[in-house]
Amino acid sequence: MSEQPARVCGHWIGSEHRYCRTTDGVRHYLPGYRCPAHTPRALRGLAEIPPGPGLPAGAWTTVSPLNESRVHDALAIVSGKRRASQAARRAALTVVASRGEWL
Ligand SMILES: [Zn+2]
Repeated sequence: MSEQPARVCGHWIGSEHRYCRTTDGVRHYLPGYRCPAHTPRALRGLAEIPPGPGLPAGAWTTVSPLNESRVHDALAIVSGKRRASQAARRAALTVVASRGEWL
């Protein structure tokens, strides 16, 4: 069984000629493991960035072929490539306008 490398703050405290070596609240950053006092932003005197909401729930879902065809239908109706009733044409215009795209 291999031993996991210890998660200790690897910040060099120049004035004390030693590494920080703190293990409390250590997280991995680009320069390596750092304690909350020695994160890249903390060293620059900046506040930590609060966690964001992350990806939306449906970010990686596959686009439904049904929805896809509806999207193209709306464009086709508005452009006149597809015949439709006045009501369907008005609805398609609303859809295309709401998406902010135009032909
Ligand atoms: Zn530290």
